[in-house]
Amino acid sequence: MGKIIAIANQKGGVGKTTTAINLAACLGVLEKKILLIDADPQANSSSGVGDFPQPGAKSLYECMIDEIDPKTAIYKTESPNLWLMPSSIDLVGAELELVTRFRREYVMDEFLSQIRDDYDYIIIDCLPSLGLVTINALTAADSVLIPVQCEVFSLEGLGKLKDTIKLVKKALNKKLEVEGILLTMFDTRLRLGHLVMNEVRTTAVDYVFETVIHRNARLAEAPSLHKPIILYDATCKGSINFLNLAKEFLTKNKDGVTKKNG
Ligand code: ATP
Ligand code: MG
Repeated sequence: MGKIIAIANQKGGVGKTTTAINLAACLGVLEKKILLIDADPQANSSSGVGDFPQPGAKSLYECMIDEIDPKTAIYKTESPNLWLMPSSIDLVGAELELVTRFRREYVMDEFLSQIRDDYDYIIIDCLPSLGLVTINALTAADSVLIPVQCEVFSLEGLGKLKDTIKLVKKALNKKLEVEGILLTMFDTRLRLGHLVMNEVRTTAVDYVFETVIHRNARLAEAPSLHKPIILYDATCKGSINFLNLAKEFLTKNKDGVTKKNG
């Protein structure tokens, strides 16, 4: 059964989408079968792995609201072993449309149960809010990976996210764990980055990934070419960081063995 990981932090611009796209692509390169779900109406994950979302194509919105067969909203990307369930701008309305739905927090969990056996890992890129779509992702997930930007104010709001995770765990999803905190956009030249890194490493109760994602211009360029970093520039710092993250993630999950290919 595939493990479901939500990439979440209600703080905007901390590297959630960059992490979702590139961790997913690197796990695919390491021969794991991966589904990336774009749960943000901005659809940055969708456009970051190819020419998505295609006009009129099925997306996460139809899976959640119209209860279509989720397999009809999954597309193969050019990246090895990587599939995508795209987002669409319609997802903005889903927050409201879900309010009156029976078991409204379990909609994603229910449709994912139909497809989770088809993948080794399912990675959900969440939007920067703790609304119903994000709560659905946390309710469906086995774990949550929290990107934290190595900058001032980045630790603010982490407490609120941790409270939400605790609440979801207690009321909706007992199995939810914190996969780990990932330090992103680290700049070796800035003292502040080192301070934030030390603060997180000494105070976090949760696992903090050894791998740190450095600030790397190639990571910011790749999405405009609709490519994960590993297909854009396989030898740049960003590719090396994300490959290391994928390897650390697999070691942590005691998963060195290829289960499936696709
Ligand atoms: P949002 O909350 O809006 O969904 P996010 O948390 O998903 O944002 P990203 O979109 O991944 O954050 O990153 C924000 C911006 O920073 C993007 O323009 C991205 O290209 C850039 N960026 C992210 N990580 C890096 C990095 N390591 N080096 C350079 N630029 C980066
Ligand atoms: Mg994002």
